[in-house]
Amino acid sequence: MKFCSECAGPVSLRVPEGDDRPRYVCDSCCTIHYQNPNIVAGCIAEWEGRILLCRRAIEPRHGLWTLPAGFMELGETTQQAATRETLEEARARVELDALYAVFNLPHINQVYMLFRGRLLGPDFSAGEESLEVALFDRDSVPWDALAFQVVAETLKLYFGEQPGGRYGLYVGDIERLSREPLRYRTRYL
Ligand SMILES: [Zn+2]
Repeated sequence: MKFCSECAGPVSLRVPEGDDRPRYVCDSCCTIHYQNPNIVAGCIAEWEGRILLCRRAIEPRHGLWTLPAGFMELGETTQQAATRETLEEARARVELDALYAVFNLPHINQVYMLFRGRLLGPDFSAGEESLEVALFDRDSVPWDALAFQVVAETLKLYFGEQPGGRYGLYVGDIERLSREPLRYRTRYL
């Protein structure tokens, strides 16, 4: 951030009085511009035992597979965001069942909230941000071509529980250990 969104004056990074970490503070109007993590809401949408995945038409991870998920919009609930993203990315209508997994990704300041859900019908197609959309069971999931660690973790949990038909609620922290090669560690609460 270089300029204040309130008055367009320059900002500087400093610790405001009474605070304990640096913030962007406007040099002119003194507005403190707090920055906080973004919530990504998404859906594990099942149809006859298979899960809907989208192949990304956008960066990052163009061409790799992901669950329908995206940043919440202002004024939305997490459930609305998950349903909307499924409609936008997979042109699929879904009914949510329950929250399934919350993942903290502190290295990119994101929190994922993934819901279990059921497709209302077998109608889906690639939305603007997808190259293709398809249903996968555990054996057909493109495990080596998944876009994000959070997707791999979620699918492992889900397909692990699917045979028993009983689903938990998971909270995990995904930590990036290195950039090259890309390595992560996931810890569950
Ligand atoms: Zn200002």
